[in-house]
Amino acid sequence: MTTTAPAAQAPAGNPWHDAREQLDAVAGKMGIDPGMREVLRHCKREFTVNFPVKMDDGTVRVFTGYRVHHNEARGPVKGGLRYSLNVSLDEVRALAMWMTWKCAVAGLPFGGAKGGVIVDPRALSTGELERMTRRFAAEIGMLIGPDADVPAPDMGTDAQVMAWIMDTYSMMHGHSAPAVITGKPVSIGGSTGRVEATGRGVLFVTQEACRARGMALEGATVAVQGFGNVGATAAKLLGEAGAKVVAVSDSEGAIYAADGLGDIAALVERKRTRGLIPDGHPGTHITNAELLELPVDILVPAALEGQIHGGNAERIRAKMIVEGANGPTTPEADRILAQNGVYVVPDILANAGGVIVSYFEWVQDLQSFFWEEHEVNLRLERIIKRAFQEVADIHAGAGGTLREAAYMLAVRRVVEATQSRGIFP
Ligand code: NAD
Repeated sequence: MTTTAPAAQAPAGNPWHDAREQLDAVAGKMGIDPGMREVLRHCKREFTVNFPVKMDDGTVRVFTGYRVHHNEARGPVKGGLRYSLNVSLDEVRALAMWMTWKCAVAGLPFGGAKGGVIVDPRALSTGELERMTRRFAAEIGMLIGPDADVPAPDMGTDAQVMAWIMDTYSMMHGHSAPAVITGKPVSIGGSTGRVEATGRGVLFVTQEACRARGMALEGATVAVQGFGNVGATAAKLLGEAGAKVVAVSDSEGAIYAADGLGDIAALVERKRTRGLIPDGHPGTHITNAELLELPVDILVPAALEGQIHGGNAERIRAKMIVEGANGPTTPEADRILAQNGVYVVPDILANAGGVIVSYFEWVQDLQSFFWEEHEVNLRLERIIKRAFQEVADIHAGAGGTLREAAYMLAVRRVVEATQSRGIFP
């Protein structure tokens, strides 16, 4: 499992302000009724828990965690759990809102949620991590459930963490409940293809974006920020599709080789055993900031939010940005990139592969009927490419940015659902 950087490297700015600004811009353009806009600007539920955990040395530590539901008009809420020192209520709110739009863009029957714990999971032993996870699962147990709220992995969490949560929830209810969480190991109801789903989705949307721009993916140079689940998979699959991956990074820094970094699968193994950055790596050691400004065809930010901002957007030289991470580009940067003709495939479309296959996992668990991996990948490809086309069609008609087009599609779907249901009572 990879983890977030120390707090000192936390992104500047406030993702919740960014998320609301993105919504406001599109709601204004769409002429959304002020009351409806207020509904969409708020998270429906915001749950904070402070909970004790027994540490290995016998002391007790209190951790703070959150689970936020943004909107459930379209179905049970869905969204990941993040373990990081940078977790805050505003970050979780933003991520929950983005999940609402992401599920709607992909046409999934889910609303948006997110959660997290303020912790550096690398600083805990396996036992401490398990006890903290189980206690957190028990604390948010009143919110989660197969028909209500279905969490998934995000930064700093993985299939093992999902397994502990599934087991804790199942113990609390007296029966196995695999559909309460996705991103589990296949042995307990996980889906084939889930681990690679977000990175594979990044590949599919990059293929579509290249087609839309008349650009060849074969031979295109690619820089990827973040070398965890999303970044490493995207780098590997883009490399296999013929792109030339010239730079990758993690929280320790980046490596760059203008002629290409070669075998990405070997780099993944190297990161697992020795770390990405130590001496002897293929290429030059550069900073994460330098990676973002490399003269590449395609930039894939796949780490944290707020990485491309007003302070560096003018220096971005990539022709295309495919947002593997959630919220990597601030609204101010978006405006600068648009002026400079950079084609940005927004997060709510570009990284939807994870939640699409999470949806497949949930469906398989509810039916206790499991699919072959090629079936999962094929259905993922079909749904994410359809979503890209729907967004591209709106973009062709309405102009503006691809992000605005994706928001228009998502907001329209959520508004339709809210209006059909009506305002209770
Ligand atoms: P992860 O924990 O597996 O990997 C995160 C990577 O980012 C690690 O390599 C870490 O070293 C690196 N990183 C951390 N801080 C960094 C910094 N300051 N600069 C550069 N790199 C840094 O997490 P992940 O699951 O790959 O998630 C990455 C992003 O993708 C997040 O924004 C997450 O919300 C988003 N996302 C994840 C999924 C999923 O299915 N896992 C789905 C959709 C979106």
